[in-house]
Amino acid sequence: ALEGRDLMQAFGPQVVLRGVSVAVQPGEVVAVTGPSGSGKSTLLHLLGGLDAPQSGEVHWAGERVDVLGTQVRAQRRAAQLGLVFQHHYLLEDLTVLENVLIPTRLSGRGDESRARALLGRVGLTGRESAYPAVLSGGERQRVAVARALAAHPAAVLADEPTGSLDRANAQAVAQLLVNLAREEGAGVLLVTHDDRLTRYADRTLHLLDGQFTDEAPDFA
Ligand code: ATP
Ligand code: MG
Repeated sequence: ALEGRDLMQAFGPQVVLRGVSVAVQPGEVVAVTGPSGSGKSTLLHLLGGLDAPQSGEVHWAGERVDVLGTQVRAQRRAAQLGLVFQHHYLLEDLTVLENVLIPTRLSGRGDESRARALLGRVGLTGRESAYPAVLSGGERQRVAVARALAAHPAAVLADEPTGSLDRANAQAVAQLLVNLAREEGAGVLLVTHDDRLTRYADRTLHLLDGQFTDEAPDFA
Protein backbone atom coordinates (compact mmCIF):
# COMPACT_ATOMS: atom_id res chain seq x y z
CA ALA A 1 0.00 0.00 0.00
CA LEU A 2 0.90 3.64 -0.44
CA GLU A 3 0.41 5.48 2.80
CA GLY A 4 0.75 8.94 4.26
CA ARG A 5 0.36 9.36 8.01
CA ASP A 6 -0.47 12.65 9.67
CA LEU A 7 1.34 14.67 7.05
CA MET A 8 2.04 18.31 7.80
CA GLN A 9 3.61 20.78 5.42
CA ALA A 10 4.14 24.52 5.60
CA PHE A 11 5.85 27.03 3.38
CA GLY A 12 7.09 29.79 5.64
CA PRO A 13 4.15 30.95 7.72
CA GLN A 14 1.62 29.30 5.41
CA VAL A 15 0.47 25.92 6.71
CA VAL A 16 -0.72 23.93 3.71
CA LEU A 17 -1.33 20.46 5.16
CA ARG A 18 -2.34 20.07 8.80
CA GLY A 19 -2.25 16.38 9.49
CA VAL A 20 -3.41 14.47 6.43
CA SER A 21 -3.58 10.69 6.38
CA VAL A 22 -4.38 8.54 3.38
CA ALA A 23 -3.79 4.93 2.34
CA VAL A 24 -4.22 3.54 -1.15
CA GLN A 25 -4.53 -0.23 -1.36
CA PRO A 26 -3.38 -2.30 -4.35
CA GLY A 27 -5.95 -2.04 -7.13
CA GLU A 28 -7.81 0.77 -5.40
CA VAL A 29 -8.47 4.11 -7.10
CA VAL A 30 -8.67 7.12 -4.78
CA ALA A 31 -9.47 10.58 -6.12
CA VAL A 32 -8.41 13.75 -4.30
CA THR A 33 -10.23 16.97 -5.09
CA GLY A 34 -10.20 20.40 -3.53
CA PRO A 35 -10.01 24.06 -4.47
CA SER A 36 -6.98 25.53 -6.14
CA GLY A 37 -4.30 26.08 -3.53
CA SER A 38 -5.75 23.57 -1.08
CA GLY A 39 -2.57 21.49 -1.11
CA LYS A 40 -3.37 18.66 -3.53
CA SER A 41 -0.08 18.86 -5.39
CA THR A 42 1.79 19.37 -2.14
CA LEU A 43 0.26 16.14 -0.83
CA LEU A 44 1.10 14.28 -3.99
CA HIS A 45 4.70 15.47 -3.83
CA LEU A 46 4.99 14.19 -0.28
CA LEU A 47 3.40 10.83 -1.09
CA GLY A 48 5.72 10.48 -4.09
CA GLY A 49 8.76 11.27 -1.99
CA LEU A 50 9.59 14.28 -4.16
CA ASP A 51 9.52 16.52 -1.08
CA ALA A 52 9.95 15.68 2.60
CA PRO A 53 7.08 16.45 4.98
CA GLN A 54 7.60 18.79 7.88
CA SER A 55 6.17 16.04 10.02
CA GLY A 56 4.38 12.77 9.46
CA GLU A 57 5.39 9.64 7.61
CA VAL A 58 5.26 8.21 4.10
CA HIS A 59 5.28 4.44 3.56
CA TRP A 60 5.58 2.49 0.32
CA ALA A 61 4.93 -1.23 0.50
CA GLY A 62 5.38 -1.18 4.24
CA GLU A 63 8.66 0.70 4.23
CA ARG A 64 8.97 4.19 5.67
CA VAL A 65 10.58 6.24 2.90
CA ASP A 66 10.48 9.89 4.01
CA VAL A 67 13.51 9.24 6.22
CA LEU A 68 15.60 7.68 3.44
CA GLY A 69 18.31 9.56 1.61
CA THR A 70 17.41 11.14 -1.70
CA GLN A 71 19.16 8.57 -3.84
CA VAL A 72 17.82 5.51 -2.06
CA ARG A 73 14.36 7.02 -2.16
CA ALA A 74 14.71 7.63 -5.90
CA GLN A 75 15.57 3.96 -6.39
CA ARG A 76 12.57 2.92 -4.32
CA ARG A 77 10.38 5.32 -6.27
CA ALA A 78 11.47 3.84 -9.58
CA ALA A 79 10.66 0.36 -8.31
CA GLN A 80 7.40 1.15 -6.52
CA LEU A 81 5.68 4.14 -8.11
CA GLY A 82 4.50 5.51 -11.41
CA LEU A 83 4.00 9.25 -11.75
CA VAL A 84 1.84 11.18 -14.19
CA PHE A 85 1.72 14.97 -14.10
CA GLN A 86 -0.42 17.57 -15.82
CA HIS A 87 2.34 18.37 -18.25
CA HIS A 88 3.71 15.10 -19.46
CA TYR A 89 7.45 15.50 -18.68
CA LEU A 90 8.39 13.28 -21.57
CA LEU A 91 12.02 13.52 -22.52
CA GLU A 92 11.97 15.27 -25.88
CA ASP A 93 15.15 13.74 -27.27
CA LEU A 94 13.98 10.18 -26.59
CA THR A 95 11.44 8.32 -28.71
CA VAL A 96 8.05 7.25 -27.40
CA LEU A 97 9.33 3.73 -26.76
CA GLU A 98 12.49 4.97 -25.05
CA ASN A 99 10.41 7.21 -22.79
CA VAL A 100 8.28 4.26 -21.71
CA LEU A 101 11.40 2.21 -21.06
CA ILE A 102 12.93 4.76 -18.64
CA PRO A 103 11.37 3.39 -15.43
CA THR A 104 12.00 -0.21 -16.38
CA ARG A 105 15.69 0.59 -16.84
CA LEU A 106 15.86 2.49 -13.56
CA SER A 107 14.23 -0.30 -11.63
CA GLY A 108 15.79 -3.21 -13.51
CA ARG A 109 12.33 -4.66 -14.12
CA GLY A 110 9.99 -4.80 -17.05
CA ASP A 111 11.16 -5.07 -20.62
CA GLU A 112 10.73 -3.83 -24.15
CA SER A 113 7.94 -6.22 -25.05
CA ARG A 114 5.98 -4.97 -22.07
CA ALA A 115 6.61 -1.37 -23.09
CA ARG A 116 5.35 -2.15 -26.59
CA ALA A 117 2.30 -3.94 -25.19
CA LEU A 118 1.47 -0.96 -22.96
CA LEU A 119 1.81 1.40 -25.90
CA GLY A 120 -0.64 -0.84 -27.71
CA ARG A 121 -3.07 -0.64 -24.82
CA VAL A 122 -2.99 3.15 -24.95
CA GLY A 123 -3.56 3.15 -28.69
CA LEU A 124 -0.07 4.12 -29.80
CA THR A 125 1.05 1.08 -31.76
CA GLY A 126 3.02 2.36 -34.73
CA ARG A 127 4.19 5.49 -32.90
CA GLU A 128 7.03 3.81 -30.96
CA SER A 129 9.77 5.57 -32.90
CA ALA A 130 8.10 8.98 -32.93
CA TYR A 131 9.51 11.83 -30.87
CA PRO A 132 7.22 13.59 -28.37
CA ALA A 133 7.32 16.85 -30.32
CA VAL A 134 5.15 15.39 -33.09
CA LEU A 135 2.48 13.99 -30.75
CA SER A 136 -0.79 15.64 -29.73
CA GLY A 137 -1.42 16.51 -26.09
CA GLY A 138 -3.63 13.47 -25.61
CA GLU A 139 -1.05 11.19 -27.21
CA ARG A 140 1.64 12.56 -24.94
CA GLN A 141 -0.46 11.90 -21.86
CA ARG A 142 -1.10 8.37 -23.08
CA VAL A 143 2.64 7.86 -23.37
CA ALA A 144 2.96 9.15 -19.80
CA VAL A 145 0.31 6.64 -18.68
CA ALA A 146 2.15 3.77 -20.37
CA ARG A 147 5.42 4.94 -18.84
CA ALA A 148 3.89 5.18 -15.36
CA LEU A 149 2.86 1.52 -15.51
CA ALA A 150 5.92 0.16 -17.27
CA ALA A 151 7.85 -1.02 -14.22
CA HIS A 152 4.92 -2.80 -12.53
CA PRO A 153 4.43 -0.09 -9.89
CA ALA A 154 2.55 -0.80 -6.69
CA ALA A 155 0.86 2.57 -7.08
CA VAL A 156 0.45 5.38 -9.58
CA LEU A 157 0.31 9.02 -8.48
CA ALA A 158 -1.39 11.29 -10.98
CA ASP A 159 -1.65 15.07 -10.58
CA GLU A 160 -4.26 16.56 -12.91
CA PRO A 161 -3.10 14.08 -15.54
CA THR A 162 -5.77 15.29 -17.93
CA GLY A 163 -5.64 18.95 -17.00
CA SER A 164 -4.25 20.07 -20.34
CA LEU A 165 -6.71 18.04 -22.42
CA ASP A 166 -10.17 18.68 -23.79
CA ARG A 167 -13.08 16.87 -22.20
CA ALA A 168 -13.24 13.84 -24.47
CA ASN A 169 -9.49 13.28 -24.32
CA ALA A 170 -9.44 13.83 -20.56
CA GLN A 171 -12.01 11.12 -19.97
CA ALA A 172 -10.29 8.73 -22.35
CA VAL A 173 -6.90 9.18 -20.69
CA ALA A 174 -8.31 8.92 -17.16
CA GLN A 175 -10.20 5.77 -18.07
CA LEU A 176 -7.09 4.22 -19.61
CA LEU A 177 -5.05 4.99 -16.53
CA VAL A 178 -7.64 3.55 -14.17
CA ASN A 179 -8.37 0.45 -16.26
CA LEU A 180 -4.72 -0.39 -16.75
CA ALA A 181 -3.87 0.18 -13.10
CA ARG A 182 -6.78 -2.01 -11.99
CA GLU A 183 -5.69 -4.79 -14.32
CA GLU A 184 -2.18 -4.54 -12.96
CA GLY A 185 -3.34 -4.47 -9.35
CA ALA A 186 -1.71 -1.08 -8.85
CA GLY A 187 -3.32 1.52 -6.59
CA VAL A 188 -4.05 4.95 -8.02
CA LEU A 189 -4.13 8.32 -6.32
CA LEU A 190 -5.73 10.71 -8.79
CA VAL A 191 -5.68 14.43 -8.09
CA THR A 192 -8.31 16.14 -10.17
CA HIS A 193 -10.44 19.26 -10.39
CA ASP A 194 -12.77 17.49 -12.71
CA ASP A 195 -15.92 15.99 -11.19
CA ARG A 196 -16.38 13.87 -14.27
CA LEU A 197 -13.20 12.00 -13.45
CA THR A 198 -14.03 11.20 -9.84
CA ARG A 199 -16.58 8.69 -11.11
CA TYR A 200 -13.68 6.40 -11.99
CA ALA A 201 -12.56 6.34 -8.35
CA ASP A 202 -13.58 3.88 -5.63
CA ARG A 203 -13.66 6.80 -3.23
CA THR A 204 -13.05 10.52 -3.32
CA LEU A 205 -11.35 12.61 -0.65
CA HIS A 206 -11.91 16.35 -0.44
CA LEU A 207 -9.07 18.54 0.73
CA LEU A 208 -10.09 21.78 2.42
CA ASP A 209 -8.10 24.05 4.72
CA GLY A 210 -5.26 21.56 4.89
CA GLN A 211 -7.38 18.60 5.94
CA PHE A 212 -9.70 16.04 4.44
CA THR A 213 -13.29 17.03 5.00
CA ASP A 214 -16.52 15.05 4.95
CA GLU A 215 -18.49 18.10 3.95
CA ALA A 216 -20.13 18.13 0.57
CA PRO A 217 -17.75 20.06 -1.62
CA ASP A 218 -18.78 23.05 -3.66
CA PHE A 219 -15.76 23.82 -5.74
CA ALA A 220 -15.77 26.18 -8.64
P1 ATP B 1 -4.09 23.62 -7.87
O1 ATP B 1 -5.46 23.00 -7.89
O2 ATP B 1 -4.13 25.04 -8.33
O3 ATP B 1 -3.06 22.80 -8.55
P2 ATP B 1 -3.16 22.63 -5.31
O4 ATP B 1 -4.29 22.17 -4.46
O5 ATP B 1 -2.39 21.61 -6.03
O6 ATP B 1 -3.70 23.75 -6.31
P3 ATP B 1 -0.63 23.29 -4.11
O7 ATP B 1 0.14 23.42 -5.34
O8 ATP B 1 -0.41 22.07 -3.28
O9 ATP B 1 -2.20 23.48 -4.38
O10 ATP B 1 -0.32 24.58 -3.24
C1 ATP B 1 -0.88 24.78 -1.96
C2 ATP B 1 -0.36 26.09 -1.39
O11 ATP B 1 1.02 25.94 -1.09
C3 ATP B 1 -0.46 27.26 -2.35
O12 ATP B 1 -0.83 28.39 -1.63
C4 ATP B 1 0.94 27.39 -2.91
O13 ATP B 1 1.22 28.72 -3.23
C5 ATP B 1 1.81 26.92 -1.77
N1 ATP B 1 3.05 26.27 -2.23
C6 ATP B 1 3.14 25.11 -2.90
N2 ATP B 1 4.41 24.77 -3.14
C7 ATP B 1 5.16 25.78 -2.63
C8 ATP B 1 6.57 26.03 -2.55
N3 ATP B 1 7.45 25.17 -3.06
N4 ATP B 1 6.96 27.16 -1.94
C9 ATP B 1 6.08 28.02 -1.40
N5 ATP B 1 4.74 27.84 -1.43
C10 ATP B 1 4.29 26.74 -2.03
MG1 MG C 1 -1.94 21.30 -8.06
